[in-house]
Amino acid sequence: MRTQGLLISIDGTAGTGKSTVGKAVAAKLGYGFLSTGEMYRALAYTVFAKHIDPDDHDGVLAATRAMRFTFARQADATLKMFVDGEYLGAKLHLEEVGNVASRVSTNGEARRVLTEKMREVGETGGIVMEGRDIGTVVFPDADIKFYLDASAEERANRRFKQLKEAGENPNYDEILRLIKERDARDKGRAVSPLKPADDAIIIDTSLLNLQQVIDAVLEKIPHHAS
Ligand code: C5P
Repeated sequence: MRTQGLLISIDGTAGTGKSTVGKAVAAKLGYGFLSTGEMYRALAYTVFAKHIDPDDHDGVLAATRAMRFTFARQADATLKMFVDGEYLGAKLHLEEVGNVASRVSTNGEARRVLTEKMREVGETGGIVMEGRDIGTVVFPDADIKFYLDASAEERANRRFKQLKEAGENPNYDEILRLIKERDARDKGRAVSPLKPADDAIIIDTSLLNLQQVIDAVLEKIPHHAS
């Protein structure tokens, strides 16, 4: 029962600002925000730490089943994730972890386990949940569904700038290659491929700044036009 408010899903490709937008929208509504990619990233990290081959179906499934997820709502709306009591933090945001995440996330049974956990978190509503299959598989009955997209080149540009600002020395072509590779894997997988739900509101963010995307999302939420 959604006693705490609406369940809002935001799906889309990597690097479209889904997390930043989702967090801002949740904060505005007084809702919680969950980035479900963190769960796939945590699985990838665990698989890596335990020296399990990401393509070893049973090994990945056993690792998924053994993980205990808990969440603590933060002042900025985020549901901070702990795995077996540990906060994994910035380690989850390494480019390599994102890539292994997109490999382990082709494991249909592991997805089912994580999907169940997401449903437990979201069932009471009052949440913005961001991912790849929230509006299609995790909560096909979400109250409002968004799908964010942008050209691969624009997303690579954004990532390039972010890394540059963080003092790194990024390689644009390599970033673009990784983005395209991840898109192809996320869209092409047999289970829960990335695609907009039939009833999703699609927003192309290529030519919009973050605030414009946040406004476009809020405009569609009943009683919360900004
Ligand atoms: O969104 P983020 O980049 O953190 O997600 C990492 C990877 O996790 C994605 O590339 C995707 O393969 C996988 N993922 C998924 N389903 C979700 C969220 C993330 O398959 N709901």
